[in-house]
Amino acid sequence: MLEEVKHVILVLSGKGGVGKSTVSTQLALTLKEKGFKVGLLDIDLCGPSVPYLLNLEDQNIHQGSGHWIPVYLDKEKKLAVMSIGFLLKSRNDAVVWRGPKKTSMIKQFLEDVYWQDLDYLIIDTPPGTSDEHITVMENLRNVPQCSAIIVTTPQQVAIEDVRKEITFCRKTGIPIMGLIENMSGYECPTCSECTNIFSTGGGKSLAEISKIKFLGSIPIDPRIGALAGKGVAAVKELPDCTTSKVFNDLINHL
Ligand code: ADP
Repeated sequence: MLEEVKHVILVLSGKGGVGKSTVSTQLALTLKEKGFKVGLLDIDLCGPSVPYLLNLEDQNIHQGSGHWIPVYLDKEKKLAVMSIGFLLKSRNDAVVWRGPKKTSMIKQFLEDVYWQDLDYLIIDTPPGTSDEHITVMENLRNVPQCSAIIVTTPQQVAIEDVRKEITFCRKTGIPIMGLIENMSGYECPTCSECTNIFSTGGGKSLAEISKIKFLGSIPIDPRIGALAGKGVAAVKELPDCTTSKVFNDLINHL
């Protein structure tokens, strides 16, 4: 039930492992810290990582009258979460489904979950542009505002895939809010010096060429890796790090 959701943000990436789920969860957690009512929907059916990233792996979905009640991260119910991970018996269970079954699960996530009056629903999508993305797009017609954030790493090979994400958004008519470059250099937690491990600037130049907004560079920061599994916002735990600055700027831009 998306009738009362004001804004949907899809988080897309061309490849897996570039930090899409980290960006999705940190965006949701930052919005919650700023006082917004947020939902986080994980439609990466074959590799759901949101329950782990938010330390909610032991949680289950409850059935309300004709709908599913999402899992809430907090007592105040400011952050509602839904993932196929909550429906699996074990974290190691594999979802081996063909397209139509995936399509129907995603429809249920959008139509049958009691999302209530969210300010933002963040959707963490699988890498690439597959059935899952098309199904989501087809079901977002009634949402007043909908946009996409693209996540990439600086390497050329990841950048090439991002072009396909941009084309997908343009073909389906979803406005691109901008592009985030993750893992851009290594930031030393002690002295904050940044060492460029991979090539640099690929995300920024792709954004310029594609005429989309560049939303910032997040360095490889072991403290960000360590936040995974805790369900805590970087802006709260590490207010002075570069990652927090990127998320603060991003939210000011919304
Ligand atoms: P994806 O959703 O694109 O597959 P994840 O968000 O799951 O990627 O990130 C992959 C791994 O990299 C995770 O272990 C995550 O904690 C780690 N990671 C992501 N971004 C950073 C970063 N900026 N600094 C350090 N570790 C990161």
